[in-house]
Amino acid sequence: MSSTASTAGIVSFEQARRLVEQHAAGVAPGEVEAVDLLAGLGRVLAEGIVADRDFPPFDRATRDGYAVRAADLAKVPARLEVVGEVKAGDWPEPGVCSVGRGQAVGIMTGAPLPAGADAVVMVEHTALAQGSHANAAKDAALGFAQRSHPNAAQNAALGWGTLGSGRDTLGGKFVDILRRVGVGENFVLRGSEARAGQLLLDRGRRLDHAGIAIAASAGKSRVQVFRKTRVAVLSTGDEVVEIEATPGPAQIRNSNSYSLAAQVQNAGGEAVRLAIAPDERGGLRALIQEGLRCDLLLLTGGVSMGKYDLVEEVLGELKAEFYCTGAEIQPGRPVVFGSCGSDTPVRADGEVAARTRAGAPAPHKKYFFGLPGNPVSTMVTFELFARPMIEALAGMTPQPLIFLRARLKSEIRTKTGLKRFLPAVLSGEFENAEVELARWQGSGDTATLARANCYVVIPPDRERIEAGEWVPLLMR
Ligand code: AMP
Ligand code: MG
Repeated sequence: MSSTASTAGIVSFEQARRLVEQHAAGVAPGEVEAVDLLAGLGRVLAEGIVADRDFPPFDRATRDGYAVRAADLAKVPARLEVVGEVKAGDWPEPGVCSVGRGQAVGIMTGAPLPAGADAVVMVEHTALAQGSHANAAKDAALGFAQRSHPNAAQNAALGWGTLGSGRDTLGGKFVDILRRVGVGENFVLRGSEARAGQLLLDRGRRLDHAGIAIAASAGKSRVQVFRKTRVAVLSTGDEVVEIEATPGPAQIRNSNSYSLAAQVQNAGGEAVRLAIAPDERGGLRALIQEGLRCDLLLLTGGVSMGKYDLVEEVLGELKAEFYCTGAEIQPGRPVVFGSCGSDTPVRADGEVAARTRAGAPAPHKKYFFGLPGNPVSTMVTFELFARPMIEALAGMTPQPLIFLRARLKSEIRTKTGLKRFLPAVLSGEFENAEVELARWQGSGDTATLARANCYVVIPPDRERIEAGEWVPLLMR
């Protein structure tokens, strides 16, 4: 049986969130398009990114130093003959540049490990062998070998030598290794990060800079992403005017359409701002119908108990199904969640997800959120409830809502009964963050909210929270 506005009811924060998540699990993303890699930033992958080769593609040195055989270093200091050098980009041809017993090859970070070597000694733990260097003063302190060396004095401080310039009595060039290394130290084995053909990034991942890096490493100059979710944003209220207009004495500018459009964009969607709906059935209904042509409809205002709060009524006339008509939260208590146009009515209990997964989606069903008109309530309820639906419609794998914790700077007193998300300022140095409530004038106070950077979350059963207590935060 489907729920009407009068039967859906007010639920706890957790129940409301779960309802959204359950319905979100049943939606299908839009079409797929190919975009240039950087244009994919913030978009949701419609393909998995697969390693086109081993990562790393060769045994890769992670330090500047000498490629050695660890067994040669049973006793240190140990003197090894330097038989070559590999820098990043060089390929040490086995047989031409390999490490035999008692030998070492100079190696730089990012270079392939030569055959025969099983470890890298950091140059800081080496010294050029005495007498092996014409101009050893500075090279010796660090230990490196270079072919023609303009500034050997500096290199001598580390163990870099100059091949050909410093030969010992036997004619070779030698380095003293001062510390032991274990097998496998200071290089990464070929394929240890990923094997060729292995999945690096899942379909359904939203591309961030790290994802872009992975895709770039796999040679993906273009990526398949889902079409952006189109989200209609509909502000309601006779007092609300467009921001270009000069407001009359009792009018306010339509900030919600803009904050919502910004939040939609941040969530990876594309906002479609509709005209402001009047507090009158006919006009409101026409705009709701227009909004239902998008993938998702966000309304703001008109969901409270006022005589002219007509949103639920008009949605009811459009045969909407309501999953909740309020949540026990502050700000944002009157938030409404529902859908319109379902030809297979589903209940708000998880059945939806199961049914669509079984291959019977409700094709014409459009979800909507009626967010309260108070600007702070609009913003908070968007983050708590609308965002996961937008992400799901964009094909994104569900993400948990993450709460951080910080120490409370000064005591909070409040009333029990609602879970509160109060604008707050997180500050402090490095790991010693502390949080303090912003002094606000209630849910209409956007000026304070703009200065805040998070919300302190207060459970419904707490009246008083002492200074110094660790409190959960929702970052903004
Ligand atoms: P309502 O939810 O319609 O009762 O509105 C609650 C409060 O939010 C009222 O003070 C409205 O004037 C204000 N409000 C409603 N819609 C908007 C909007 N689009 N932009 C800014 N404030 C709004
Ligand atoms: Mg209103």
